[in-house]
This record gives sequence, C-alpha cells and structure tokens, in this order.
Amino acid sequence: MLQQLVLLSAAACVAAKTLSNSIDRNKLLLISFDGFRWDYDQDVDTPNLDQLVVDGVKAKYLTPPMLTMTSPSHFTTITGRWVEDHEVVHNMMYDTETNLKVPHKTTLTKSEWWDNGTLPLWITAQDQGLKTASFFFPGGGANYSGQAVNRVVVQNSGHPDDNETEWIQNIDKVMSWFSEEDFDFVALYYGEPDNVGHAKGPNHPDRKKIIQQIDRTIGYLRRAIQQHGLTNSLNVIITSDHGMTTIKKRPMVDEIILNKYLNLITLNSFEILDYGGFGILKPRPGKDFHLGKSQRLPPIVVIADLGFNLNSRFIVYVNKGDHGFHNGEMDMKTIFRAFGPDFKKNLLTEAFDSIHIYPLMCRLLQIQPAPHNGSLAVTQEMLINNSGSRSSVGVSGFLLLLLVFTMVY
Ligand SMILES: [Zn+2]
Repeated sequence: MLQQLVLLSAAACVAAKTLSNSIDRNKLLLISFDGFRWDYDQDVDTPNLDQLVVDGVKAKYLTPPMLTMTSPSHFTTITGRWVEDHEVVHNMMYDTETNLKVPHKTTLTKSEWWDNGTLPLWITAQDQGLKTASFFFPGGGANYSGQAVNRVVVQNSGHPDDNETEWIQNIDKVMSWFSEEDFDFVALYYGEPDNVGHAKGPNHPDRKKIIQQIDRTIGYLRRAIQQHGLTNSLNVIITSDHGMTTIKKRPMVDEIILNKYLNLITLNSFEILDYGGFGILKPRPGKDFHLGKSQRLPPIVVIADLGFNLNSRFIVYVNKGDHGFHNGEMDMKTIFRAFGPDFKKNLLTEAFDSIHIYPLMCRLLQIQPAPHNGSLAVTQEMLINNSGSRSSVGVSGFLLLLLVFTMVY
C-alpha cells in the first residue's frame, strides 16, 4: 500500500512536470555578426561583450565548417548538417552544366538553392507548433518543401550593413515579436564586421570601430531584453560564420597565375575561381578526382594557404581581408557567446565546431531535432539543467519507480 502511494504521487509529479514543460519553454534569439573573428574583441574596449562572459557562457573559439563561407556556414549552424549534406556549397548559386552564376544577395530568396531536403531549425520548430522568424538570416528567405518561415525579412541587394540606427531598430522589432506576438525563435543577422574586414583588412582601425559598434548594440540588446520583460524567458546565442585574414600582396607573396601552368579552358568545363581563399573547378571528363559526396560541389576544391589569394586567369585584389581558407586556421575561427535563463553564468568552455549549435538550440526550444551531424554532449555543460530533456527525465524516473514497485510485489 505504501508503495502504491509512492507510485501514485510519482505519477502526479510526472504529470505536473509535463504540464509545466509546455509553459516552461524559453524563447531563443540567435544572432550572427558576419565575419567576427574569434579574437576581434581582444584589442578593442568591449565592456558589453566582457559583461556577457560574467553573465553567461563563452567558448574560447568556434570552428566553422569547411567551407568557411557565409551561406554554407550559416546553413550549417541553422541545420546542424555538414556542407556536403545540406548542399549550400557557395555564396553564389551556380550550375556547372549551364555555367549559370547568380550573385549572393539574389540567391537569398531562391528556394532551389537552399531547399535540398535538409530542414532548417525554423521549419522543424514550426512543424512542432512553434512560431519562428528570420531577420536577414541567410536561408530564411527560402521555402522548404513548400513551407515558408512564419516571418521573414530579407536583405536587399545594396542594403547598407553598418547603419547603427538601423541595427538598434532591428533589435526593437525582434523584441516586439517576442514580447507582443509570442514568437519562440528568431534568427537575426548583421553583415558586419565582414564588410569592413574585406574592404580594409582585419587589422584596420575601422574594424576596431565596428567591433565597438557591435559592443554598443549588444549593450542596447541587453537593456531592450529587460525593458520588454524577457530577462527570465529569453535565451540568446551570439555567434558568427567565419573569421578573416589579411590578404598578402607582392612583394610579400610570389604571384602564381594558375593559367600559366595549367590550361584551365582545356582542363575544366566550369570554374568559380575569381579571387579569394578557395576556388572550385569542374574538370572535363577524364581529368578528375573525387572529394566528398556533395552532388553540387565540383570534384576539385582548391584551398589557398592563409593570406594567398587564388586567381586563375588574372590577378584581382578586391579584398584586403578574406575568408574561405581552411577551417583549421586560427584566422578562420569565430565566436560563441550565450546567456539567458537556461545558461550557466561565468563559464568559459573549450572551443567546439559550429555544427553542435543546432542540437543545443533544439534542446533550448524543447523540440525534436531533425537528423543532424551535431552532438548535444558537446554543449550541454553550458546549461543549468543539463541532464537531457526534462520530460524524458520525468519519464525515466517514473519507469524506475514502476520497476521498484514491480520488484517489491
Ligand atoms: Zn560571412
């Protein structure tokens, strides 16, 4: 009889716990500052970023996937899949058969580039009853199996990336989505410090200025969270897609024009090898070898040594800084910060791969993840309640008590 009472009260606990779970789910804001190298805050005064370390979690650095490019890397963050699986293999949309090339901003609403059978977090969350939005986040403007993200703001071509007034207005909008319209998940994207890093190089004083602007924006975000009454119900992850390195020029490097050594027209039927840290080629039949299982990626991907600028036919120095280099290079590493009701405070973790952010986000939103390549084990030490999903703990406790009950009788 005593055991029966224990069992009954345990069942009541489980029921209460399950009920409270649906109410307990906290909201999640994912912010990406494009091209924020892991150490960009170390030579600039950043009081707000520093305070985040005290009030939340910081990883020493974050390793982006190969390829260290904006669309491929962001889509790995939002899907938890490697680039060879999600197939968003470049910032430009292209077709190696027709030689079609579409510029980055134009691809942002082209579902045929993004929708390759891998569902991003927005759609998986919406399928489980959550309300989600994308504010400029790469991939948010596409439809997946015909389904759009609940609310989408797409960045137009020519949109200024560094307007601080607009940065703050965008935070206000996102805060009202959470507080007034009850959105559960919003992914928010900023195009800096990538632009400055490309145009002026990572060591330029203007890069330090933009990091201070980002720092002020984070200060504004934290005040806005408070003003909207979201302090105890909103988790925030701040991250980025890759780092940045200085492009070397003559006389620091010997310029090697590949076309002088390889007849690229004879060897290849397709190439995107204009300038930058990596290039891709499609060899003509009989001239190829294989790399990876991607259907979209041509059989040859050329990765330059750090700082070298790949050129095929002629030398172009558009950028003073660049990315696209090997993700093992420290200059390609980026940032991870997080704070909110589910995160521990004052925790510095080891570096990890950005692919593991996805299962962490699913855990925070208490949804069932789609198939992915990440692991919650990598990040769960960051969480206050890190013993797996709350309801499954409740259920296993219930089963354990049932077992005890059965054994006694
Ligand atoms: Zn980028």
